[in-house]
Amino acid sequence: MNLYNTLTRKIEKFIPNNDKEVKMYTCGPTVYHYAHIGNLRSYIMEDVLEKALNYIGYDVIRCMNITDVGHLSSDSDTGEDKMLKGAKREHKTVMEIADMYTKAFFDDCKKLNIKKPQYVIKATDFIDKYINIIKTLLEKNYAYISNGNVYFDVTKLKDYYSLTNHKEDEMVVGVREGVEEDLGKKNQSDFVLWFTKSKFEDQELKWESPWGLGYPGWHIECSGISISILGEYLDIHCGGVDNIFPHHTNEIAQSESYLGHKWCNYWFHIEHLNDESGKMSKSKGEFLTLSLLEEKGYNPIFYRFFCLQSHYRKQLLFSYDILDSSVNTYKKLKSKIKTIKENKSGSIDYEKVKIYKDKFVNSLENDLNTSLALTTLYDVLKSDINNATKLYLIEDFDKVLSLDLLKEDIVNIDDELLKYINEKIEIRKKAKENKDYELSDKIRDELLEKGIIIKDTKEGTIFEIK
Ligand SMILES: [Zn+2]
Repeated sequence: MNLYNTLTRKIEKFIPNNDKEVKMYTCGPTVYHYAHIGNLRSYIMEDVLEKALNYIGYDVIRCMNITDVGHLSSDSDTGEDKMLKGAKREHKTVMEIADMYTKAFFDDCKKLNIKKPQYVIKATDFIDKYINIIKTLLEKNYAYISNGNVYFDVTKLKDYYSLTNHKEDEMVVGVREGVEEDLGKKNQSDFVLWFTKSKFEDQELKWESPWGLGYPGWHIECSGISISILGEYLDIHCGGVDNIFPHHTNEIAQSESYLGHKWCNYWFHIEHLNDESGKMSKSKGEFLTLSLLEEKGYNPIFYRFFCLQSHYRKQLLFSYDILDSSVNTYKKLKSKIKTIKENKSGSIDYEKVKIYKDKFVNSLENDLNTSLALTTLYDVLKSDINNATKLYLIEDFDKVLSLDLLKEDIVNIDDELLKYINEKIEIRKKAKENKDYELSDKIRDELLEKGIIIKDTKEGTIFEIK
């Protein structure tokens, strides 16, 4: 497997520490809101990476955190606590918010055929681990206490900026933009390991520590969880490009200072999803969630297909027009596969299987080139091999692609049916607004008779076809 390594800024042969075993860590969501589809792009591509490694013959042990404390609005320790902000917005407790959005996140993952990592750890469950690491960092003189908080001193490191390829001055400007200065820090880039004094006296979740009642910084969570679950040597760490600085930079600083040796060899980062106005975010433009796409009649798998058509290291532009064009391609693909299924013939030709499997593996090993992997799938469909062999290969490739290639339901929703369902949902919505519950129930039952189940969610009505 050849992968681009952000740390060395080149494509390298991927060699895990322990032969065929891969220890993989993924930064999970901060569960204060729904994930937007840009966030989900990262989780889709990480899922493909895990499945590709498995396909090639590695045994992947993967861990992901759920950030339910400590992540402030700015990634660099300033601004409001994201969880608290979510709780205030929805008049709920932080724990209620965390539970609700953790569930929503995994619901999205399930719909996108993203496999749940073997270990999913809530940040609040590992507080004692962070405290232990911070104690050691203080003992080793990498950290200091100032104004009640514990900070990591970045000047103790020779190459704090190794992951970013930026000069210190540029990065500091990035950090300071629009953010007030924390006077407790010795250096601008120092970051918080443990807060006891913050601007948020109403912080709900606090724990006893040697430095007083407080809570951990965001960065220490990933180091603590990763080292506790996957050990001192990590093979590959994943995340969106947003995480490179300061989050991953800080993870490296504190983990390696604590361990006293190199921690992670490969850093895998997924590029942004942009909308027409630029980088997608939760705060500007239409808040694009997976549920919103569903409401508009898109099956989540369409979005997965859209992501797989592009390389993970390229910025990807999202618009409904581009998505529609992916949907058409996907539907055509499914209808070709349907024809093959209906005309199954011959017996599996294992020589041919090997040829195409090798091609498929080559595309994955080529820095996870998913669009090339899809091309190989098309090559199979176009080839003159018999249908039994084709079906065998389609099923086999779908172990990595997870595009429901042999599942029939999606392709059967033709445009006309979709239009019909959406019209009915719209009439029902109006009926409910007018408190005409008799009509709204009637429409629901009518759809149910046709095998269409509708569900009312916070983001609107969605449907499923039996
Ligand atoms: Zn992280």
